[in-house]
Amino acid sequence: MQYFDVVIVGAGPAGGHCARLLAKLGYSVLLVEQHESFQQNIFSSAATPLETLELFNLPPSVVASFWHKLEIVTTKVHRHWEANNTLGAVFDFAKLRAFLAKDAEINGAKVWLGHRYVKAQQESEKLLISLKPKRGEEITVSSQVLVDATGFARAVMYPDKRQKPKFLKGTGIEYLIEVEQDIYQKYAHSLVFFMGYQWSPKGYSWIFPMQENQFKVGSAWIDAPHKFIAEVKPLKFYIGQIIKDYLKIEDYKLLDVHGSILEYSIGLNDIYYREPNIIAIGDAVSTVNFLGGEGIRHALKGTEIAVPYIENYLNSKCSNFRQYQEEIKSYFAPKWNLSEQISRRVYLEYSDQKIDQGVAYLKYLSLSDLMDILFYYKFEKFTRGLGGYLKSKIGQMLGKIKSLWSNKL
Ligand SMILES: Cc1cc2nc3c(=O)[nH]c(=O)nc-3n(C[C@H](O)[C@H](O)[C@H](O)COP(=O)(O)OP(=O)(O)OC[C@H]3O[C@@H](n4cnc5c(N)ncnc54)[C@H](O)[C@@H]3O)c2cc1C
Repeated sequence: MQYFDVVIVGAGPAGGHCARLLAKLGYSVLLVEQHESFQQNIFSSAATPLETLELFNLPPSVVASFWHKLEIVTTKVHRHWEANNTLGAVFDFAKLRAFLAKDAEINGAKVWLGHRYVKAQQESEKLLISLKPKRGEEITVSSQVLVDATGFARAVMYPDKRQKPKFLKGTGIEYLIEVEQDIYQKYAHSLVFFMGYQWSPKGYSWIFPMQENQFKVGSAWIDAPHKFIAEVKPLKFYIGQIIKDYLKIEDYKLLDVHGSILEYSIGLNDIYYREPNIIAIGDAVSTVNFLGGEGIRHALKGTEIAVPYIENYLNSKCSNFRQYQEEIKSYFAPKWNLSEQISRRVYLEYSDQKIDQGVAYLKYLSLSDLMDILFYYKFEKFTRGLGGYLKSKIGQMLGKIKSLWSNKL
C-alpha cells in the first residue's frame, strides 16, 4: 500500500495550492481529482484583482485577460469607471488548476486525475483512504493527514450527502462565446456586471473578457424565494438577453456552456476538521465570498492559513486542527458575515427601483473606492458615496432656495 504524508482530495485552487505548498516543504503528497482532465469542469468565471498573481506566485500564463475598466448596468442605470493601470485579471480556470497541479508535481507530489474519493478509515495513527479510479478497481492508500478540498461537495466531511445541513445556495451558468473583433475590442478590458430585474433577478450577471475574441457571459442567482418576484425565467434566458439586447449580437459561436453551484454556510458554521487528522480548506469551509461569488483568491488564502497547521500536525506540534478553525474563522467571519447579509438583502429583498438607486449613487465614488467595496468588502465606502449624493442634493436645494429668494427681492 502506498503511503503519503498528506492526501488532498480535490484539485481546485485550494487543493492544488495546498499540494504545491506542502510538496515544496518536502512532504510526500498525493493530490486526487475526480475529473480526468482540467479541461472538464471549467465552471468558474475566475475574475480576480491583480494582487492575486503576486500574492500567490502565479505566472501570467494562467491569465486569459487583464482588465482596467468596470461597468455596472441595472434596468435603468449604467455606470462605468476606467483606470490608467491594470486592475485585475480573468484566469483561464483550466490553466490555473493545471499549473498548480503541475507545480506540485515538479516539487515531488503525485497527482492522480480521474480518481474519486470514496471513504476514509482511521487505523491507529494513520488513515486508510479508498479511491475509485474512472476505470478499474478501488485503490487504498494510507496517509497521516487527509485534506477535504472538494469545494461545495464537502465529500470528506460529509460522506453521506443526506447528512449535510442546509446551506445558502447559489447557482451560476456561463456561456463561452466567440464574437467579431470589433465587439470584442469594446469590452476586451472590462468587467461588466448586471443587476436588477431586467438582467438578473435574484443575483447578478456578467460579461468577462477571455483571450482574443472570446467572452464569458454568465448569470447567477440565490436559490431562495424573493420578496417581490414570484417567478423567474431560467438563467439561460438572461444570458441570451445580455448577448442579444446588450451586446447586440445575433451571430456568435457558442464554444462551451458550463456552470456550478456554491453552498455557503451561514455564519461560517462548517466542519473545519475531524479529530485527529482530517482538515477542510477552500469552499469546503465557505471561503467564497457570497456577495460577489469571488472565491479563488480566498481559497488560496485559506489554504495558506491551513498549511502551517498541517505541518505542525505532521511534526507532532499539535494534535488536531482546532486552532486552524479559530484562525480561519477570525480572518473571514467579520467581512463574510456582513457580505452574506448584504447579498440576501440586495438579491432577495430589494425592489428594482432600489437597485437602480443604489447603483446611481455609485457615481459619487472613485474607482479605488469602488474596488474597495467590490473586492475588499469595505462597505463603509458606499455610505461615503451616499454622503456625496446627499451633499449634492442639499446643494441643489440650497441653490433653488437662493434663486427663489433673490427673485422675491
Ligand atoms: C458560476 C461561478 C462563477 C464563479 N466566478 C468566480 C470569479 O469570477 N472569481 C472568483 O474568484 N471565484 C469565482 N467563483 C468561485 C470559485 O470558483 C470558487 O470559490 C473556487 O473554485 C473554490 O476553490 P476550491 O478549490 O475550494 O473548490 P473547487 O474549485 O470547487 O474544487 C473542488 C474540486 O474537488 C473535486 N471533487 C469534488 N468531489 C470529489 C471527490 N469525491 N473525489 C475527488 N475529487 C472531488 C471537484 O471536481 C473539484 O475539482 C465562481 C463560482 C461559480 C460557481
